[in-house]
Amino acid sequence: MSHNAFITEERIEGDADGALAGRTVAVKDNISTAGLRTTCGSTTLEEYVPPYDATVVERLKAAGATIVGKTNMDEFGMGTTTETSAFGPVENPAAEGRVPGGSSGGSAAAVAAGEADLALGSDTGGSVRCPAAFCGVVGIKPTYGLVSRYGLVAYANSLEQIGPLAPTVEEAAELLEVLAGSDPNDATTREPPADAETDYAAAADGDVSGLTIGVPTELLEGADDGVRAIFEDALAELEMKGATTTAVSLPSVEAAVQAYYVIAMSEASSNLARFDGVRYGRSGEGEDDGNWNESFAAARDVGFGEEVKRRVLLGTYALSAGYHDKYYKKAQDARAWVKQDFDSAFESVDVLASPTMPVPPFERGESLDDPLQMYLADANTVPINLANLPAISVPAGETDEGPVGLQLVGPAFGEATIIRAGSALS
Ligand code: GLN
Repeated sequence: MSHNAFITEERIEGDADGALAGRTVAVKDNISTAGLRTTCGSTTLEEYVPPYDATVVERLKAAGATIVGKTNMDEFGMGTTTETSAFGPVENPAAEGRVPGGSSGGSAAAVAAGEADLALGSDTGGSVRCPAAFCGVVGIKPTYGLVSRYGLVAYANSLEQIGPLAPTVEEAAELLEVLAGSDPNDATTREPPADAETDYAAAADGDVSGLTIGVPTELLEGADDGVRAIFEDALAELEMKGATTTAVSLPSVEAAVQAYYVIAMSEASSNLARFDGVRYGRSGEGEDDGNWNESFAAARDVGFGEEVKRRVLLGTYALSAGYHDKYYKKAQDARAWVKQDFDSAFESVDVLASPTMPVPPFERGESLDDPLQMYLADANTVPINLANLPAISVPAGETDEGPVGLQLVGPAFGEATIIRAGSALS
């Protein structure tokens, strides 16, 4: 199909009579599908066929969904543009010549182009919300522990969740309902508290009367003028429908990008150690004379792309003796500070709002030479992962350069509240 949204196109017909009967779903290629290759956008897993389904895939099948293929992504989820895939970049169906966002760019593009009704992405630091924003669709990053990660190939496991992408808030909520719920195979999953509203699709009723929306000033500071104007219009619309907005301050988010990248790269360096050409992944070429160090190095040299190598090296460095306290421990302290800041904000507001991305979709190729610039574009999404909170990105409008998303953040297990607020805009 067009846009290079899929790495593998294969139909697994749904035959169960459930909530997703008759619906097609595209699955990000870091989510295991029994008998169907799962590459993570990487050369090292080009031929890897998992022997089992991820829990979310089992749940899709039980709900009667038809799976239409595995979607293209930044290699191992590391990126914001879906240009680091070993299978080539994805095009943005909603903004010609521009990136679809990442790392779940294939999933967002498949939905935006109508190649699938719904899609699954994974969000470690924004990878569902960013492509949703850039492609003009809806994406939800659930509360940490709401959705099972069993069968998701780990990038940074303390930060990531699988989440739904869909054309509307209601459809994303319907898909979330199918995915959510604890799983004996993932000990980090939890049931929402007994008083939490879990009828997510029904929550998409657009009723924001009496809702208090906090706007963190720090998350507006770096935003483009065009993005800001669209954001202000969306807030005005929510006010017109009965919500109140108020400025709040989250001073800790200044440290969020730095803390996120130290933690994400550290976890990645450990999680990706298994791709050594023996346990998992493609072998290196040439003779190694039985020297394991050389053999592992060769496997990783041919199997990984540049961004993955950069992150494994930096993560290993941050965890190494002598630097652990200076980087990793400091990042964990910053993470605790971010959590605290959000907790106190939610004492006085129901949800928080910001632009999902401070910029419209980048032109293709623009960010490849400047990784730091790319990391900084995650400023508004990574704090939410550090704090384990739920967030939704809904289309808010369009600049000349492409779609703009509005992000709504809720307290832990407050999915229904952000779904309700987001549905007021669609
Ligand atoms: N852009 C962020 C990163 O590269 C987020 C990726 C993600 O959520 N998987 O780490």
